[in-house]
Amino acid sequence: PAAPGTVLQVSPLLPALEKALAERHRTVRLHELPDPAAYLREEAGDVVAAVTSARFGVANSLMDALPRLGAIVHFGVGYETTDVAHARARGIDVSNTPDVLDDCVADLAVGGLIDVMRELSAADRYVRAGKWTAAPYPLTSRVSGKRVGILGLGRIGRAVARRLEGFGTDIAYCSRTPVADVPYRHVPTARELAAECDAVVVTVAGGPGTRGLVSAEVLDALGPRGFLVNVARGSVVDEPALVAAVREGRIAGAALDVFADEPNVPQGLLESDRVLLLPHVASGTHETRQAMADLVLDNVRRFLAEGVLVTPVP
Ligand code: NDP
Repeated sequence: PAAPGTVLQVSPLLPALEKALAERHRTVRLHELPDPAAYLREEAGDVVAAVTSARFGVANSLMDALPRLGAIVHFGVGYETTDVAHARARGIDVSNTPDVLDDCVADLAVGGLIDVMRELSAADRYVRAGKWTAAPYPLTSRVSGKRVGILGLGRIGRAVARRLEGFGTDIAYCSRTPVADVPYRHVPTARELAAECDAVVVTVAGGPGTRGLVSAEVLDALGPRGFLVNVARGSVVDEPALVAAVREGRIAGAALDVFADEPNVPQGLLESDRVLLLPHVASGTHETRQAMADLVLDNVRRFLAEGVLVTPVP
């Protein structure tokens, strides 16, 4: 077990989680202190665990400033904002919140796919703008029975594929390693996946390994009748290439929950009726955020009591 110490909250978190952390542990909210540097100079030696969000992570300089830090606990499944190799080298364990958010993220991905193919949001705008009285809405693309590619068949990708089975879709996927226990076709590259599918749903991990994986070439392989859904990370898609492909009609449409520079969305996307733009809300339900908070609390409690995490990252 870790010797008693302080839990350092590095970023804003769900209010209920902040409250529970403060009630259960000696917790310091670093980002709310008037002089965080002074705190670190004087009391860094007390900190044994840090809690942060997937968005903020823990910087290497902060790890280096905390000599007794033994665990970094993330609220969220993506943890590319923390340098895990650096943490490991310092003997710091890292956890995230896998599994508990799969259903909601997959629900939203499928909802986004249906929205952009059937133009639900665009048709809603059409009605509100009073255009229905002038002309019926143009025809859209059928979803059922289409060929859908999953880019990154991990926990969330599989949850998306399971849902799409109900739509009679033909499912293929791309990941570096073929997955043993699934009935879907493995395709070796993102470009080939895009070339043979009507829609691609992006569910890969973020970070440097997947930066720009959905390139201009992949978008062109998807083609003018193809749709893109991204619920992974904005970094995975070459965003300027996507803006150009949407503007020039080189892809049919996109449903995007994540962007390269959140909360800033490129003007070229804001102006397009062919994209669904969501403010990074895929896991944002009461139920899932509470489950994520509970898993964060379990990780902190177990680390402080036994020196191990419940859901360490691989
Ligand atoms: P997993 O680790 O279970 O799955 C990630 C998958 O990506 C793995 O199957 C991996 O397979 C594959 N992958 C990694 N690199 C590549 C590559 N270069 N080419 C092809 N496939 C690759 O993660 P989760 O399913 O739990 O989460 C996926 C991501 O979703 C998270 O990392 C996070 O960024 C994002 N997310 C977004 C949310 C939102 O609010 N929009 C909410 C939750 C998660 P292999 O190693 O074999 O390549």
